[in-house]
Amino acid sequence: MSLGITVISGPAGVGKGTVVSELRRLRPQVWVSVSATTRPARPGEIDGVHYHFLSEEAFDTLVATGGLLEWAVVHGKHRYGTPAAPVLAAAAQGKPVILEIDLAGARQVRERLPDAFSIFLAPPDWDTLVGRLSGRGTETSAQVERRLRTAKVELDAASEFDAIVVNDDLGATVTELVRLMGL
Ligand code: ADP
Ligand code: 5GP
Repeated sequence: MSLGITVISGPAGVGKGTVVSELRRLRPQVWVSVSATTRPARPGEIDGVHYHFLSEEAFDTLVATGGLLEWAVVHGKHRYGTPAAPVLAAAAQGKPVILEIDLAGARQVRERLPDAFSIFLAPPDWDTLVGRLSGRGTETSAQVERRLRTAKVELDAASEFDAIVVNDDLGATVTELVRLMGL
């Protein structure tokens, strides 16, 4: 893990955002990549903080100029990608870097940066995942259905990752991440 870049992936609703923000609270030195996306901002989301919200054209330009470390169409709809320069700069400064990205993105990072460490965040069981995703209340029922279809594919890929962490108790999950990342 000498590179200091950790990829965290896992199905929608498993708790990636919650876990990463708790980890950041406990270990403020952690640097979390801000992704670029063509998805519109949700209420309360701030450009440059939660995502860099880009037009289709601006995203095309980033892809064409090699500005992204990886990118993917997520949930069959919008494009999301990791701006390469800030990630490489933070890693070069010795900061522990986290990329919270989907399975396709995690596979690209594995190809390009084989020394990155990858963690799959898994739900305790299927019903818990369904409950968390529906309970969050940010998606319509059609969107929940779509994410659950993707989740089945993602769960099947868990063994590709360097480590699998089951997000049952939040505190225990974060403690395990701290240990795995050597923080
Ligand atoms: P993701 O970023 O993976 O899509 P979120 O972080 O939005 O997932 O979490 C989905 C829902 O599950 C949220 O309502 C969150 O509060 C809840 N959640 C996350 N982690 C846990 C946990 N360990 N125990 C119980 N609920 C959790
Ligand atoms: P949301 O639209 O709910 O914020 O995010 C949807 C999904 O996009 C998340 O599950 C997350 O893993 C994925 N994602 C966010 N940023 C990136 C990125 O930069 N690259 C890739 N490949 N996936 C991302």
